Amino acid sequence: MPLVNSKELFEKAYKEGYAIGAFNCNNMEIVQAITEAAKECNSPVILQVSAGARKYAKPVYLKKMVEAAVEDTGLPIVLHLDHGADFEICKDCIDGGFTSVMIDCSSKPFEENIAITRKVVEYAHAHKPYVTVEAELGTLAGIEDEVKVEHGAESYTNPDQVEEFVKRTGVDSLAIAIGTSHGAYKFRPEQCTRDPKTGVLLPPPLRFDILEEVSKRLPGFPIVLHGSSSVNQEYVKIINEHGGALKDAVGVPEDQLRHAARMAVCKINIDSDLRLAMTAGIREHMENHPDHFDPRQYIGDGRAYVKQLVKHKITDVLGSNNKI
Ligand SMILES: [Zn+2]
Repeated sequence: MPLVNSKELFEKAYKEGYAIGAFNCNNMEIVQAITEAAKECNSPVILQVSAGARKYAKPVYLKKMVEAAVEDTGLPIVLHLDHGADFEICKDCIDGGFTSVMIDCSSKPFEENIAITRKVVEYAHAHKPYVTVEAELGTLAGIEDEVKVEHGAESYTNPDQVEEFVKRTGVDSLAIAIGTSHGAYKFRPEQCTRDPKTGVLLPPPLRFDILEEVSKRLPGFPIVLHGSSSVNQEYVKIINEHGGALKDAVGVPEDQLRHAARMAVCKINIDSDLRLAMTAGIREHMENHPDHFDPRQYIGDGRAYVKQLVKHKITDVLGSNNKI
């Protein structure tokens, strides 16, 4: 099976109440970990590439690695551009064989967001085969590669704008802001309460009322959540016990994401959790085996941790297992 776009995957996910994981990939081991996990779970998967990944690994390497994963696993895999900043980068990816792109003009005024998104949609939909387009309304706090928004400068999606936006742009899916955030430090300690037993921060709940309202205005339309790592504390603990120093790293609780996946959310973006799992595996290996110097040994452990994490996400959070 060749690379696929997200259209049919989202239709089925919407109907059956689950979400597809969109995992960021930056190197071979991450691509392998994600796709081997998806294969074992019999799950469709989205591999997404950010501007930072393109800079780090070069687009041609990422594309060929994802193609290798398709050949190796036979899975329906979407190759998606994460946070395309302008028309040119989206066009470049569409011409280069991506099957899905995100145009992110969420920081621009409403009319400008519509105009640029519309231009990308026209180009993507005229492409053969059809390339799907995701856009965004509302802004998330946090840091993800080149996307940086200060805490306090974020804004929730206004449900009054979504119908007009989707109608005028013709976009295939919409990322909304309901309180998720980019990075491994999603919430400031003062936004959270602290679990008295473990000392771990408990973040404020997602705004399910906004999601509910958006899905009423856009029946059957796929919604996307960015910044949806959960910062699983078992990995933070391994990192901190093996020389790391991640203080008060906190994410979106997995039960809330599971709830969103049963609603209109069809794509959930996960990046920081992969980084944490990889780092946990490598740190643990390095500390336990100070005599090792073969990168396959420690990166291999990182890859095993990422794979284990992705299987957990697919089965316990996204619900996309056995959906092929
Ligand atoms: Zn994002």
